[in-house]
Amino acid sequence: MGILVQKFGGTSLSTPEARQYVLRHIERERGCGHSLVVVVSAMGRKGDPYATDTLLSLIRENGGTCTAQERDLLMGCGELISAVLLSALLQAASVPATALSGGGAGIMTDRQFGKARIVEIRTDAVLKQLHAGKVVVVTGFQGMTEDGELTTLGRGGSDTSATALGAALKAERVDIYTDVNGILTADPRIVENARPLSVVGYAEICNMARQGAKVIHPRAVEIAQQARIPLRVRSTFSEDEGTLVTDVQEHVLTTAVHDRYVTGVTHVAGVTQITVHATDGHSDVQLQVFQAMAKHHISVDFINVTPGGAVYTVFDQDAGLAVSVLRKAGFDPIAISGCAKVSVIGGGMNGVPGIMARIVEALTVRGIPILQSADSNTTIWVLVREEDMAEAIRALHHKFSLHE
Ligand code: ADP
Ligand code: MG
Repeated sequence: MGILVQKFGGTSLSTPEARQYVLRHIERERGCGHSLVVVVSAMGRKGDPYATDTLLSLIRENGGTCTAQERDLLMGCGELISAVLLSALLQAASVPATALSGGGAGIMTDRQFGKARIVEIRTDAVLKQLHAGKVVVVTGFQGMTEDGELTTLGRGGSDTSATALGAALKAERVDIYTDVNGILTADPRIVENARPLSVVGYAEICNMARQGAKVIHPRAVEIAQQARIPLRVRSTFSEDEGTLVTDVQEHVLTTAVHDRYVTGVTHVAGVTQITVHATDGHSDVQLQVFQAMAKHHISVDFINVTPGGAVYTVFDQDAGLAVSVLRKAGFDPIAISGCAKVSVIGGGMNGVPGIMARIVEALTVRGIPILQSADSNTTIWVLVREEDMAEAIRALHHKFSLHE
């Protein structure tokens, strides 16, 4: 039996009852003969005492300021607490275990504090503990620079820690344990009858994750794909096996995967649509607009360029800056804030006629205006007003019978 990486998210560790489920998953896999590396997030969500957001608010609410290095030191605390607690609970249950920080587990990163990239994983320390028969509990979300400073990997960082460790250790599989039964056809907080997907390809899940399916971080999926390590996303609170993310081409050879062309509906809220028309004296309007955005580090998305101008989106928090930059450049932009990008995703939709017609139909019969749209061979995006978002997602989910 080889190495298995298990990652437990914040809600999986937040209460004593939840932690009992965690122990059961660890003991079951250990019982099957796996060597286990367990990656943990900080306990709980926003508002809980050791959650990352709570730690950060300590500085803000007390009127403090600190360097990016210090911020990372603080943000990494939640995971340290989780790791030591889980290791202690395992030892109390007579399971030999040890806790390691990201740096202790050899996760080396660059110096981009707050969003560091993993550059190398030195596996010696983890392998040594595994050989000694221990369950190695590693803090997610953390790494270390060459000079020993603690770094954090940004949002969803614990997923990345897990698959990166899995790749470095040539793990048999990486299991991501969370509070839902796998990767679902839509966010269950919005679509009550969203259904767990049983087997899906890396590319499709990466796409869903990039387009807002928060259940797994896209970078984590990319790393698993490159290393060709299967991923499972499953619930801490049940024995269901959840979703297997793998090389579907190969999987199809051995199992029947039923033919679907739409896989899921995802969303990103909180975006502003900006429309810029060429005014007199602006023959290179598109060039000027996007150079101005780049110069101010404003990330742009959903770009449609026309001869007379450009339409695109920015995050709501960047909208004020974007508009003022455009005005200074002599444009008269129209900004609609509070929009949401809804994506219909499916690896199998390429060349299937009528999908856009069905999307438009589903939304227009409900009186939901489409502010903008775009498509690729795996995704159709529509921009709607945020107040229409939930209904739009439900309508599309229903239209493509994703609940069945
Ligand atoms: P964790 O703390 O375990 O990392 P997250 O909050 O990051 O958990 O991810 C789990 C959440 O992702 C779910 O509670 C669910 O609301 C949300 N989610 C969004 N889209 C999807 C989807 N397509 N499938 C499953 N969960 C989704
Ligand atoms: Mg997460």
